[in-house]
Amino acid sequence: MHQRPVRVRFAPSPTGGLHLGGVRTALYNYLFAKKHHGTFVLRIEDTDQTRYVQGAEQYIVDCLEWCGISPDEGPHRPGKFGPYRQSERKDVYRVFAEQLVSNGHAYYAFDTPEELEKMRTDFKSDNNPSPQYNHTTRMKMCNSLTLSKEEVEKKISDKVPHVIRILMPDQEEIKLNDIIRGEVVFHSHLVDDKVLLKADGMPTYHLAVVVDDHAMEITHAFRGEEWLPSAPVHVLLWQFLGWSDVMPAWAHFPLILKPDGQGKLSKRDGDRLGFPVFAMDWRDPKTGELTKGFKEMGFLPDAYINLLALLGWNDGSGQEIFSKEELIQHFSVERIHKSGAKFDFEKAKWYNHEWVKKSSTDLLLPLVQELLSSNQIHTNDELLQTAIPLIKERCHVINDFLLQLKYFFVDPTQLDTEAVKPKWDEKKSAFFQSFVKELESLSSWNIEEIEKCFKDLSLAQGLKPGDVQLPFRVMLVGGKFGPAVFEIAQLIGKDATLRRIDTGLSSFNI
Ligand code: GLU
Repeated sequence: MHQRPVRVRFAPSPTGGLHLGGVRTALYNYLFAKKHHGTFVLRIEDTDQTRYVQGAEQYIVDCLEWCGISPDEGPHRPGKFGPYRQSERKDVYRVFAEQLVSNGHAYYAFDTPEELEKMRTDFKSDNNPSPQYNHTTRMKMCNSLTLSKEEVEKKISDKVPHVIRILMPDQEEIKLNDIIRGEVVFHSHLVDDKVLLKADGMPTYHLAVVVDDHAMEITHAFRGEEWLPSAPVHVLLWQFLGWSDVMPAWAHFPLILKPDGQGKLSKRDGDRLGFPVFAMDWRDPKTGELTKGFKEMGFLPDAYINLLALLGWNDGSGQEIFSKEELIQHFSVERIHKSGAKFDFEKAKWYNHEWVKKSSTDLLLPLVQELLSSNQIHTNDELLQTAIPLIKERCHVINDFLLQLKYFFVDPTQLDTEAVKPKWDEKKSAFFQSFVKELESLSSWNIEEIEKCFKDLSLAQGLKPGDVQLPFRVMLVGGKFGPAVFEIAQLIGKDATLRRIDTGLSSFNI
């Protein structure tokens, strides 16, 4: 068969915030598509109306855009394979479900919820604690396998609610070639007769995913490991619908695990351990509850996709920092790991720190401006442009810029007096009083002059410059941090420097 143009899809259900595992699935699909000059499709799998959450679709689109991995086709970027929301493709699916019934691969089932419940209790035994609708039970239920043709036709014409279920073959091995896991074998008798078409005429995920992957000419179906147990149903549907020759290649990505490796990372773990799990802030429309996202916690999109890419993949060279272009170039599905990847928030911050350090002032400037203005700090661009390169090494996340930049624009409201007072004495106090006078008469205000004045005066008064440098720093910035203190003095200007020394003296002299 000739090589088809690569088409991959990210197929989330719009049920809430986008978990980092979801973004990683989107990212790996995106990288693969770009590497192979293919198309990255976003398909919204919203057939389960009970789980539909208002705003979740737009949120997914926004998250992908923020990450810089927007789809080539999707509800917001229609191509020729639309519509891209399954709820808008409803009519497509019944035909295929009916076709499966006519071919003997599926059947109508008329059981009521009460009958299903009864089946689960009646057939419960020590050997079978949770009976399913499968080869052991199906012939005892109300369906087109057990009823006569006439009874079935009557029920259908009487509009008795019914579903269509796949007829799982007995004792068959279903084989799937997974790019990451190799051959995976499933035994058909362990898989239940999944519902394909629901009573409301909506398909279930199982039918819709296969029909749509076929209709959208998907060449590679990549998704999270949690979908592996469903894979045998999908492989069979590709066969039963007569599409085996165009079945996509499969890969199931490893889980992202809690930091201690004990199970899949959940939103609750993030809440408990104080780190984000969602890409961007998510507000639940029903409860109003806000869940923090990586974006709002001050992560850069390049850092975020870099750290996600490396959660379960590496190129074997030991390289950890990759730009998006480098990821595209180096990425290969074969090198994705089989086993789960532990999430480590400290490591995530390390990635972001590396990216903050290598980001240009132009890139950081608007993010920092937004941060400071949302904290009611009036800035000026010129001073920001000078200050950002001086302090960015000290910032792991964008929000750290607040502490590191605030004092360039406003006098500190609190001074770390504890850091100074134990060694504070009359001599130091006298030094700063004379220093103020000397500064007032300085002819020009620059680092060299300020530093020279400071050092000469301290030596003249029998003090080591190093001993008075810490109090000077605390006066100017409020604490024991920041770049070279004379540079800070120069940048904040003479008036602010003199004012802050004055305030500092009164706090330390108490
Ligand atoms: N709708 C599924 C999800 O929410 C998609 C699984 C798949 O990609 O087949 O993740």
